[in-house]
Amino acid sequence: MILDPLKTDMPNVFKRSAFSLLLLLLLTACAQDKERNAEFFVFGTIVEVKLWGVSEEHASQAFSALQVMFQGMHRDWHAWEPGRLTDINNAFARGESAIADKAIVEMIRRSQVIEEKSDGRFNPAIGGLIKLWGFHTSEYPVIGPAPTQEQISSVLNLNPSSSDITITGLELYSGNPAVLLDFGGIAKGYAIDLSIQLLRELGIHNAIVNAGGDLRAIGRHGQRPWRVAVRKPAGGSIGSIDVQNDEAIFTSGNYERFRQHETQRYPHILDPRSGWPAKDIASVTVISDEGLYADAAATALVVAGLSDWPEVARALGLNQVAVVDESGKVYLTSQMEQRMQFAEDVQRSVIDLGYSDTSH
Ligand code: ADP
Ligand code: MG
Repeated sequence: MILDPLKTDMPNVFKRSAFSLLLLLLLTACAQDKERNAEFFVFGTIVEVKLWGVSEEHASQAFSALQVMFQGMHRDWHAWEPGRLTDINNAFARGESAIADKAIVEMIRRSQVIEEKSDGRFNPAIGGLIKLWGFHTSEYPVIGPAPTQEQISSVLNLNPSSSDITITGLELYSGNPAVLLDFGGIAKGYAIDLSIQLLRELGIHNAIVNAGGDLRAIGRHGQRPWRVAVRKPAGGSIGSIDVQNDEAIFTSGNYERFRQHETQRYPHILDPRSGWPAKDIASVTVISDEGLYADAAATALVVAGLSDWPEVARALGLNQVAVVDESGKVYLTSQMEQRMQFAEDVQRSVIDLGYSDTSH
């Protein structure tokens, strides 16, 4: 009857309304059977959001909610534009306590654990060093010579660490006035996690939030999984990955943002233990179940360098990692190798992280 409403014994008026209802349902089904896209500009990057299986109205409602959320993050988490985070940093410098919000507290708590596990390679309290290197800017490349060793040592010797921060509810206090929070290595990841959470709360279960290759996806793109490219330092991609239901893929690298002096390049990821930029790794890609963790872990592994990244990956409990060196060679874990459809001519070798148990 539903398939052929006009051939029933219903009075005509009902036949007509049943028919229009069917038409409406069909139209809605077709309208939902497509991708809905929007782009946002946040933290100096374009964030692309794609939804699947939602009506146009539902999508535009979600996009407006995301826009409001991203604006709030930009205002509250910015490392150098005056706002909530700069107020907190100024209070730390004066030896006073400051009031944060839930999201900032969460980023600090999570950072404290990751800083410890990565043996200080990920450290969001090194804003003083990042500023000294001129990386509190949106304009890249930064031009000019590196700071002097004396300048670097003067910040380094104060040992800023996220563990200097005491959290009481929403109140923060730093026992070390040199702590200057910079969430550049983690904010994108957390922003993407919170946007996925918001979409879910709005009843959307098939979506991808992608900030230039740093992404998290839930559900599927209709009949197929969400498929994403893994960025390659020299441009293009090393391959593609079909995203399984709910996971995050993040890449950190030394090739996009750096200081340039004559022929020398100084990438924006710093080794908090030396105060100098990380060397030898061109990029690291990490898959994890959360954007925040994947983002911070990828930054920590760039700092770890070619010799130490397997050890740090183990300490962070990661199992899906790909590392690209300066010559373009890819080193990856066997779990990551199984996930990748490689582009042609990618020279690669599989690294055993040597977990003794099978839980990873
Ligand atoms: P991208 O955002 O380019 O993908 P990352 O996620 O690695 O790169 O973040 C780099 C940013 O993180 C820097 O611009 C800086 O703000 C901050 N940062 C640099 N070095 C560190 C570090 N060792 N630990 C934590 N944050 C860092
Ligand atoms: Mg990062």
